[in-house]
Amino acid sequence: MPLGFDTQLVRVRANGANQPLSEPIVLATTYSAPSAVRHREMFQDGSTTFYRRFGNPTAAAAARLIADLEGAEEGILFGSGMGAISTSLFAILRAGDHVIASREIFAQTRALLDTTLRGYGVETEFVDARVASEVTSRIRPNTRLIYVETPSNPLLHIVDIAAIASALKPGIELYVDATFGSPALQSPIHLGATLSIHSATKFLGGHGNSMAGLIVDGGKFNWGNGKFPTLSEPCPSYHGMKIWETFGDMAYAIACRVLSLRDLGPALSPMNAFLILTGCETLPLRMERHCTNALTVAKWLKAHPKVAWVNYAGLEGDASYGLHKTYCPKGAGSIFTFGVKGGYEAGKALVNSVKLFSHLANIGDTRSLIIHPASTTHRQLESEQRAAAGAGDDVVRLSIGIESVEDIIADLDQALGA
Ligand SMILES: *Cc1c(COP(=O)(O)O)cnc(C)c1O
Repeated sequence: MPLGFDTQLVRVRANGANQPLSEPIVLATTYSAPSAVRHREMFQDGSTTFYRRFGNPTAAAAARLIADLEGAEEGILFGSGMGAISTSLFAILRAGDHVIASREIFAQTRALLDTTLRGYGVETEFVDARVASEVTSRIRPNTRLIYVETPSNPLLHIVDIAAIASALKPGIELYVDATFGSPALQSPIHLGATLSIHSATKFLGGHGNSMAGLIVDGGKFNWGNGKFPTLSEPCPSYHGMKIWETFGDMAYAIACRVLSLRDLGPALSPMNAFLILTGCETLPLRMERHCTNALTVAKWLKAHPKVAWVNYAGLEGDASYGLHKTYCPKGAGSIFTFGVKGGYEAGKALVNSVKLFSHLANIGDTRSLIIHPASTTHRQLESEQRAAAGAGDDVVRLSIGIESVEDIIADLDQALGA
């Protein structure tokens, strides 16, 4: 019987004889070759570590662990979540390609697709990905991929991954940024996604001390369908090799390493890989506590006279409640939004009055975090644009930590009273 999820996370290294129980941190940037012939092969075979920008044993151990947890072919770690996201796109897109992306995605991913990649001739259309037909009806002959984020930021909407995946014409990829749920709460690849992406800076590391990003590749995609010449045609910058023909199910991961990491360079530091591995050991425990704390706080806020509304997929009656029960049965995560009566000024005042919560623009820390998006992350938008992005004037976003829930509630209570 395969080991359970929680067991794998702590036991992956622990069962060999004379093994160090935690992964060694390999800092070397370069590796010597036993012979000139072997050195030539190391440049050619794509899978060997010879220079740290292309791979590192500590990072590889972390990537392998998470890929195994998701039942995937390969994991590739990067220096940040955006490093993973930009690599995932630059690896396969070319001028003239079309992308369909969810309207509710991380602001910097949106900027990358909407501005940077548009400048390189890649066109992205943004849709309401909660409605599968909204996505599939936009498919054109040059559509290469569909990019969604679920649960979404900051509205926590859940995308019906299986509905979109089953409606896909063959040959279009489905990428899922699954940062908000982490591998402990959902597994997009089992639902039909080509690959899942995580900002490991958030829950995987979990302690707000390491930055990393991850692509987990299901390894089931047919790259030989004619739409992805980077992988199927001879690659001029890689020995004229046909990457798909040579590497099969590993082709995408190899292309990320030997082409995109080579060109873009967002390699992960081995120290951070070690911190991510250490964080992973307690991921299921932390997520359990994050989820129960968040649900308790959401219920408490919903009954509070100064709170106008609470938007948490784990609350019965929430628009995403049904999908959340199917896709994240272990809990709806720790991040949610609510509205304070009194709008912009009341939202700002609340954030000014908290004492336990940390006031900052991050999520997925062990500590409870708070932000008023309208006066910070979304301040450059017009009022209507903010509202459409789920960051209206009265919106407060919380990322609930693993502290004693009584202390979290007491802090919100005194701040709402202030
Ligand atoms: C934080 C975040 C990212 C970017 O990750 P970094 O590690 O900050 O580069 C991408 N997607 C989501 C959903 C995030 O929350």
